[in-house]
Amino acid sequence: MAVTPQQPVQPHQTPQPQQRIALEQLDIKSLSKDKIRDLFRQGKLPTADQIVEEILMRAVQEGANDIHVEPIEGEMQIRFGHEGTLRRVVSLPSDMNDSVISVLKSRATMNQFEKKKPQEGRYSAMYGAESLDFRVNVIPVLSGERCLVRLLRKTASISRIEDLGFGRENLKRFRTLLRFPRGLLLVTGPSGSGKTTTVYAAVNYVASPEKCVITVEDPVEYRLPYASQVHLPPDKSFNFIDALRAILRQNPNIIMVGEIRDAETGIVAGEAALTGNLVLSTMLADDAIGAIHRLLNLGVPAYWLASTVVGIVYQLLIRKICPNCKEEYQLSPEELQMVGAPMESSDLKLFRGRGCPNCMGTGYKGRVAISEIVTISPALRDMIFQKESILAMREEASNCGFQAIRQDAVRKALSGITTLNEITRVLG
Ligand SMILES: [Zn+2]
Repeated sequence: MAVTPQQPVQPHQTPQPQQRIALEQLDIKSLSKDKIRDLFRQGKLPTADQIVEEILMRAVQEGANDIHVEPIEGEMQIRFGHEGTLRRVVSLPSDMNDSVISVLKSRATMNQFEKKKPQEGRYSAMYGAESLDFRVNVIPVLSGERCLVRLLRKTASISRIEDLGFGRENLKRFRTLLRFPRGLLLVTGPSGSGKTTTVYAAVNYVASPEKCVITVEDPVEYRLPYASQVHLPPDKSFNFIDALRAILRQNPNIIMVGEIRDAETGIVAGEAALTGNLVLSTMLADDAIGAIHRLLNLGVPAYWLASTVVGIVYQLLIRKICPNCKEEYQLSPEELQMVGAPMESSDLKLFRGRGCPNCMGTGYKGRVAISEIVTISPALRDMIFQKESILAMREEASNCGFQAIRQDAVRKALSGITTLNEITRVLG
């Protein structure tokens, strides 16, 4: 289904086309500070604005997820985060730190003169045909300020649930959960694990002209067909709770709540589920069963949770092997043990990426979700009510066919999608 990206709340900033600058010539590893000062005196040093623009442009072109700007021992290190790993781009002289951070702050409409407190802001910009949201976060550290810029791409379409990377069993479970007419369905994981993508795909799957779908988000990232979307105002004139209470009076069938961050949001989302709605939301958690205990610890009453939650998805993103340099290899005894194969199965082969220009030598290209899904059975419901231990709940879930995320990951290694090294990196 074609979906157009939501217009940003902030005005678009279209960067002026500029002469590309060679950041490398400013790298303190290849050029002395004195030389840079000479360039400055001759008026040949690029401005902080040009430097920032060059960094942003490169990050966009390389498909980076975030940019780390950090002052360390006499330098300002710039690194790009790409699919969960960091790569050094350039180390600029430390005296540029202030002006570069200042530019980023002003773009994200922060107070440039406040240097003693953490700040955050965001803005949108177009690069070529691509529209991006930049979330900027600044924190004072010992030698200046550290800045993280997250790049959020507004792709033109919402994923279908079939394309999220769920294995066959998990996809079946997920579809079953989405057929519930009422209840709370949570998509959990750490930040940056693709939860929002999954929830959007789910809402898009269940939405239809016969159903009233209302979402409350901060901010709205995609425009959904058949849905009324409430975005929380930047001036905080109303919050999640106010919005949810108002939405309940609009007679909805399906409600999407951006994120459950505290007990109050959890309780109101539960209330919405109890009054006959299917409520979809995301939450931070370390595993599917752990999300139940997290909600209990936040202060959501056990009886409330037991009577509303129908299922919990927990997911992480894992890097896929680059198709360009994929090769087969023989497993070591430790690796055989890791995939649970008998020691004598010496003919079992797995895959890895050799590294090529297509994947910048990493051997990986793109990411896919690995997941575990727990469906709340009547027995589990009772255990939530009794606040039983995570261990006991996990055992009960396993009896009903629940498979831990590691099994999904190993299956993806066996079918040549990812590597055992990558599983160890992500799951330990
Ligand atoms: Zn490659």
